[in-house]
Amino acid sequence: MIESISIESGKPGPHLLILGAIHGNETCGTYAIKKVIDEIHQGVITLKRWCITGIPICNPKAYKNKVRYVEKNLNRVFMKHHNPLFYEEHLANQITSFVEKCDYVLDIHSMQSQGKSFIFQDYDDEATSDMCQHIGVPYIIRWRAQLNTLDDHTDTIGYAHTIWKIWVLVECGQHNDDTSKKIAYQAIMNVLIRLWMISNKKIPSKRPVSIKVNSVVIKTQKWNFSQSRKHWDLVDTNQVLAVYEDGQRIISGTKGFILLPNEKAKTGEERFYIGE
Ligand SMILES: [Zn+2]
Repeated sequence: MIESISIESGKPGPHLLILGAIHGNETCGTYAIKKVIDEIHQGVITLKRWCITGIPICNPKAYKNKVRYVEKNLNRVFMKHHNPLFYEEHLANQITSFVEKCDYVLDIHSMQSQGKSFIFQDYDDEATSDMCQHIGVPYIIRWRAQLNTLDDHTDTIGYAHTIWKIWVLVECGQHNDDTSKKIAYQAIMNVLIRLWMISNKKIPSKRPVSIKVNSVVIKTQKWNFSQSRKHWDLVDTNQVLAVYEDGQRIISGTKGFILLPNEKAKTGEERFYIGE
């Protein structure tokens, strides 16, 4: 069984679920969840309303091997599997049971590329928007509302939406950068404050900048990038971004910037996003 920790306050209120290491090599959430749970146990933080559940390591085998996943990307098979075949499908069955019991989910990730922390906001309902505004990261990247390309409900946020849970996915910075741990910890604290689950602390008043994603580029065969790309790199209209083995070119449709270029993406995975 996957390891989880729950702390109840004994008073009515929301149930917050916090997930770390959905991708095994993204460990800032693991650190931050354990720290917050420890601080509640030690009395440094007092839980004032209902319940917090933490799953510090959602993909234990991938975490142990310091890889994104073992057999399937957990964030692409996140649903109930009646006949689970792959390791991550078994994990998805366990974690979705936790999701069903909670009201809010904070899903903590880190990224391959350097760059400032941000939130993926997929849905525009009031509760989700409010949560995103108060997490304390500088950017919100909105894409599902603009694109219908990955509308298959097999990622974490899509699954949550089908069962009416408020889900916020925060990307805290580069995998091995210690700053990502601080951002992850602060994100949890800010959510707890916003939900009135702890008191005596203030949320940063600065609100994040919202960015609209124009397209998601999925790697369909081997390719070469026209140049090395970094997160937030600017691109011009009709610029050649990459060339496939068969000569087909990937061209930016609009002016904007590259988001989350993943050098290690496998064929069939999203390689980068273009936003404006
Ligand atoms: Zn991730």
